[in-house]
Amino acid sequence: MRPNSYQILGETFVVIWDDGHESYYPLEALRRACPCAGCSGEPDLFGRMAGGGPQRYRPESFQLRSVEATGNYALQPNWADGHSFGMWTFERLRNFCPCEDCEESRKWAASASPKPPGE
Ligand SMILES: [Zn+2]
Ligand SMILES: [Zn+2]
Repeated sequence: MRPNSYQILGETFVVIWDDGHESYYPLEALRRACPCAGCSGEPDLFGRMAGGGPQRYRPESFQLRSVEATGNYALQPNWADGHSFGMWTFERLRNFCPCEDCEESRKWAASASPKPPGE
């Protein structure tokens, strides 16, 4: 699973995946879900909490300057407030897709119900 192409469209980050699926991520949601240690509140390699407290967002925090592919397995958004530490692996990014189809399949994956999906 990898992006065939991606682009920034206004306040949306659009990814076209190699299976033809299209994902539309609102920039604000993408930034708030930033996986870096500072944003996710996880300790860094040295066991310290990076950032030291809740993230303060500015309007620029939800604007994308660019997005770079990293090492063929991740995308790294370059936010307009200078924040560029979040590495979105393709898997994480696809799992974050907000469309109904993906939401449904996540629901089924998370549920322990033995019932098959669909009707
Ligand atoms: Zn971050
Ligand atoms: Zn989707």
